[in-house]
Amino acid sequence: MKSGRHRLPSIVLRTVDYGEADLVVDLFTRDHGRLAGLAKNGRKSRRRFGNLLFPCTLTVMNLTIKAGRDLAHLESGERIQAFDRLPLDIRRFAQAHQAVELVGSFWAPLDSSPDVFDLLVWCLERLNAAPRPDETLLIFTLRLLGAAGYAPRLADCGGCGRPVEPSEAWGWTAEAGGVVCRSCAPAALPVHPGTLMILRLIQDMNPAKLDRASIGAVAKAEAQAFLGALVRKSLGHELKTALFLEQIGPGSNPALWTRSERTPISP
Ligand SMILES: [Zn+2]
Repeated sequence: MKSGRHRLPSIVLRTVDYGEADLVVDLFTRDHGRLAGLAKNGRKSRRRFGNLLFPCTLTVMNLTIKAGRDLAHLESGERIQAFDRLPLDIRRFAQAHQAVELVGSFWAPLDSSPDVFDLLVWCLERLNAAPRPDETLLIFTLRLLGAAGYAPRLADCGGCGRPVEPSEAWGWTAEAGGVVCRSCAPAALPVHPGTLMILRLIQDMNPAKLDRASIGAVAKAEAQAFLGALVRKSLGHELKTALFLEQIGPGSNPALWTRSERTPISP
């Protein structure tokens, strides 16, 4: 990335306190991937940063890159979208934080991908305002894993390579990276062939059509358990947000999102 001043659409992935008043901000930018920036006085300067430096905030950030420096210098920015309904529901809030944690964990610094950026914006917008947040996070996770080179194997057995037949019983394991037949892994977590089919469809779907994807209850439960295990295996540790989501349990405030998909409801 060139030295000099830049103006970059960005999503805040996380912040870390630095010194007395500064913040190191992990940003996911649309055109240059993840980069870390120093916000001088970022914990105190409302004038320059307002509410920009909270995780999951979509901004246009003004920053300077200097040759030989690891950290960009964050100067100011404008908020495009705060996704401000998320705090109304602790589970959606935690799911949005899981989406940014997944990007921070699976996406390498300075690896640019406008497609992944747009996928994250899609995910945050839907968690903020649409029904079926579990499904949104599931679709996001599956697509992100694919983009990052960790796509689960869904079409044939990871042991013997036999293609999935709808008439047979199948299983999947994180160790195999996906589906396995009963002969190769009799103790694998069972999965319905229909679940494999819908996940394959979502893997290959045009991004503009992701809103139309729909996952039934059985497929959702199977896929959540498997993708959780695959993420854990791929990273070598549990996501912080996964532990938190487990503690708060399933859906917590559905009434706030049942009236309309598009009209925000004031708290
Ligand atoms: Zn096999």
